[in-house]
Amino acid sequence: MSPTVSREPQTSDSAQPENALEHARDFVKRRLAPAEPRNDGKQTPFRGHPVFTAQHATATCCRGCLAKWYAVPAGQALTAAEQAHVVEAIGRWLRAQGGDGA
Ligand SMILES: [Zn+2]
Repeated sequence: MSPTVSREPQTSDSAQPENALEHARDFVKRRLAPAEPRNDGKQTPFRGHPVFTAQHATATCCRGCLAKWYAVPAGQALTAAEQAHVVEAIGRWLRAQGGDGA
């Protein structure tokens, strides 16, 4: 029952799209991909990492949103293809936000 949000990467390199996507892959795998993610519905903080913001913006923050917006059934683990699709949505949003370096 203890919160597990204490070690989010805060370094500036997470602002780089490539690194952010690495983190997105990791977050999706650990927090969304399991059939019954821990704290589902609350596993994605609203701040602390660009990917979190992107997840809320793209409705990839929890299984409820994935089910509603991506037709991903709740209660079963995400396939590799589904995970890739989610990461791609996050990546697209992050690139759309990036004013520089495009
Ligand atoms: Zn959600």
